[in-house]
Amino acid sequence: MEPRKYVLLMSIVVGCSVATAKTIFLEEDMPSIEEISFMKKYGYLPEKQDDIDFAYTSHSIAEALKKMQEFAGLSPTGHLDSETRKLFKRKRCGVKDIETKSAIHRRKRYILQQGWGKKAITYRILNGSSTLERARVQSLMATGLAVWAPHGGLRFEQLERGKADIQVSFASKDHGDGFPFDGPGHVVAHAFPPPHGAMHFDDDELWGDNPAEEDEDITDFFAVAVHEIGHALGLSHSNVKASVMYPYYQVPVEKLHEDDILGMQELYLKEEIPSVSAESTERSVASRSSLAPRPTLADDDENDVPDLCYTNYDTLQVIQGKIYVFEEEWVWVLTERKQILEGYPKRFHDVFIGLPKHINVIRTIYEKQNGHIVVFSGRSFWEFSSRFRLVRRGRISEYKIPPQISELTTVFLSNYNNKTYLIEYERFWRFDEATGKMDKGYPKEMSAWRQVPYPVDAAIIWKGDTYFFRGPRFWRFDNTLVRAHEYYPLPTAQIWFPCRPTPDMARYVSNDEP
Ligand code: ZN
Ligand code: ZN
Repeated sequence: MEPRKYVLLMSIVVGCSVATAKTIFLEEDMPSIEEISFMKKYGYLPEKQDDIDFAYTSHSIAEALKKMQEFAGLSPTGHLDSETRKLFKRKRCGVKDIETKSAIHRRKRYILQQGWGKKAITYRILNGSSTLERARVQSLMATGLAVWAPHGGLRFEQLERGKADIQVSFASKDHGDGFPFDGPGHVVAHAFPPPHGAMHFDDDELWGDNPAEEDEDITDFFAVAVHEIGHALGLSHSNVKASVMYPYYQVPVEKLHEDDILGMQELYLKEEIPSVSAESTERSVASRSSLAPRPTLADDDENDVPDLCYTNYDTLQVIQGKIYVFEEEWVWVLTERKQILEGYPKRFHDVFIGLPKHINVIRTIYEKQNGHIVVFSGRSFWEFSSRFRLVRRGRISEYKIPPQISELTTVFLSNYNNKTYLIEYERFWRFDEATGKMDKGYPKEMSAWRQVPYPVDAAIIWKGDTYFFRGPRFWRFDNTLVRAHEYYPLPTAQIWFPCRPTPDMARYVSNDEP
């Protein structure tokens, strides 16, 4: 484990009641309230629920700074050096860089990133800015759209009236969408992904058309528009500095980077499958209310290590005969049920070295037939050798799944047929690693695993049996009867981890949904 940056447990208090702050500020290295809210706004620091008198530890601030530095392409020192301080002040897009923990949990049921699900997209320019007339905005916007169009096979049509897919407007301060602009500087624009598609430019900026480089007060409309179009088409921020989807303002924008193009291809150019249908969205909303409760303990532990006995688990997997349990940034390794290997939990970044620092959750992981270990997060995966050395990074599209899939929720290799099962919420595919091909007849509905509720958080093979995990409970699957064993589910914590049964756990033994 990496040495702690600060020896004392310090906390800084944001909000009210300074009198209760047990705060020791040793250095000017502590971020200001504005810098803290920047890190929250862009997803580097978790939003705390209780907004009075809460505190972030110096450790969590250092970690947030590292993530932010890494995303911006600076060296991740965790210190507020002058380069980092400049980031807080730079002009940038107002869209979040990283999905925070709570957003990820909500996201488990939704496909957040999606395209328009059609090739002909309309747009409308509602107004011009005080410094850039509407006709100029129209022409620059048309050029910007033309930069993206070929990479998704898209056609853009401008509307003069009526509701267009992408509505472009200039506005200042609070403009009704819950994301007020901030006056001159810093946030210059934001845009919403499909099916919303709105694109807003801060009218308190001095917008220009290809301004001279030394004219720092003027913001180049074209450079910002090309970036915002990316969001309106469904792309999120990239940490690739040369890409258009890098969140900080950079000029000039001449062409798209390969990273931008790859994103477009995944959204628009793979097999043509309709994006989220109204029906599946409805089903997601309905099943969401049946999610198992997530009991949480007050994490006043200075390390914020979740209590293995009172948590849901991001995922579990068997690797080299040991059980790996992931929750938040932590991993536990068990040699047997209830036997935690000494030295654990560790931060998973200290086990899977080379994983980008901004990865703050491991969604799913599995051991390939050749013994390599593959870690999934979003649309990317990282492959490690059996000795935990990073071998390469890839895109989930290599598994031949449709491009609309924004993440795989569970992946496991079956001992029954040696096939790799790729699960996405309510559906799954079967992939043959030996041939590199998807088996015919997939995807199938998760209901094929009878009596196993879905979506599942994890699926593992342990001592020859298949187990599914969801929330705080697990099911054993009977491959002969092709259904879950009757006396399941059982509480995961009590059976797999060294946790004493409590009355609280007893209710999980019930077969009924809580
Ligand atoms: Zn952006
Ligand atoms: Zn807005």
